[in-house]
Amino acid sequence: MAKNPDKNERCVFCGRSQDEVDLLITTENAAICCDCAEAAYNAVREVLHPAGSNIKSNGKVTGDFSLKKPREMYDFMSQYVIGQDAAKKVLAVAVYNHYKRIENKDHGLIEKSNILLVGPTGTGKTLLARTIAKMLNVPFAIVDATILTEAGYVGEDVESILTRLLQDADYNVERAERGIVFIDEIDKIARKSDNPSITRDVSGEGVQQALLKIIEGSIVNVPPQGGRKHPEQQMITVNTDNILFICGGAFEGIERNIAHRLNTQVVGYDAQRKRDMIDKNNMIQYVAPQDLRAYGLIPEIIGRLPVITHLNALDRDTLRAILTEPKDSIIKQYTELFRLDGIKLVIGEDVLDFIVDKAIEFKLGARGLRSICETMMMDAMFEAPTSKKKRFVVTLDYARQKVEQSSLYMASLVNREDE
Ligand code: ADP
Repeated sequence: MAKNPDKNERCVFCGRSQDEVDLLITTENAAICCDCAEAAYNAVREVLHPAGSNIKSNGKVTGDFSLKKPREMYDFMSQYVIGQDAAKKVLAVAVYNHYKRIENKDHGLIEKSNILLVGPTGTGKTLLARTIAKMLNVPFAIVDATILTEAGYVGEDVESILTRLLQDADYNVERAERGIVFIDEIDKIARKSDNPSITRDVSGEGVQQALLKIIEGSIVNVPPQGGRKHPEQQMITVNTDNILFICGGAFEGIERNIAHRLNTQVVGYDAQRKRDMIDKNNMIQYVAPQDLRAYGLIPEIIGRLPVITHLNALDRDTLRAILTEPKDSIIKQYTELFRLDGIKLVIGEDVLDFIVDKAIEFKLGARGLRSICETMMMDAMFEAPTSKKKRFVVTLDYARQKVEQSSLYMASLVNREDE
């Protein structure tokens, strides 16, 4: 807005002149003083965005919730998540149905459908859940099921899951109640024994029971700051009915349960032909509720996770694509970091292959790609901003030297992943 000092303007709302206010904002035809502008802003905020529905407390407009069609969701996810087509499709449909249910709640016909993602660690389960929340512009929280315990035991109450969601929603309960929670490592709270009559199992069944209450949809009193509940603490009441819970787990060894079920299930005259059709190298794709039960999830929890899908282990080509193809891929991020210093970063194809080789060699999966890139680029990032060069080329020799120099560090990462 151009300021015209020659004109003796007055605020069109309060009539005060330049001398009477701290700031007068002028255009060719009118002026408004800072006080009236602020009052107008607050009025707009109150009317159009009640209770901060899409304005965060810091004043940042976060945009409206927007429900996309399943195909659009799939395409959005594909910008960030490579491969995992089955999971992306199942998720797109489930998420679409979930929010359709919320928007057409009156007839109460559609049941709540939370989602279970089964697949090896580091294959994109968290990334998928996070991407969906980003796409829908809803609050999002990640919790690790292993830190949860039954009330009364050391650890966090299951209600703390909702504390995190509230925090992400800036304590706007209405927004939090439409959010998404990702519960990771749900397999780690599986009952250790297949015998349901065994005496109570603190880390397993009790936590599953506690979780059940939250994910099936109920009114929960949440401690706003998390931690243990205590009597004097003021609670925030949250209805979890519309919160979408996405659970994830590696379910290591579940292939055995799947194989066992398939073997006993496939009977009849063409059993052999059907058995031959089973892809024994990728058993996880056949995962079914019975396998989860055999693994140690209680039937009630399984019943509340009616949408089950799987993620595949990442092969070489997928790892290679993850380096460069996602919208925010690691290589694009480094290129941008260098560009901001006026330097063109050039990384050869052979270097990218080398990074993937190392990730496979050290069994680091997709998470390792970033650690390897960090190791490879550390010196360059240290020197480049002060050098006069306008171009930085990472050659295969350079990459080898940097990564192999720190092979001890790499080895330590392997151990950490094993833990
Ligand atoms: P999980 O939850 O299955 O253990 P994550 O989603 O946390 O795995 O994945 C770890 C990291 O690996 C992600 O942040 C992402 O950078 C990368 N990654 C994993 N799988 C994919 C994928 N399919 N597409 C793109 N990036 C991926």
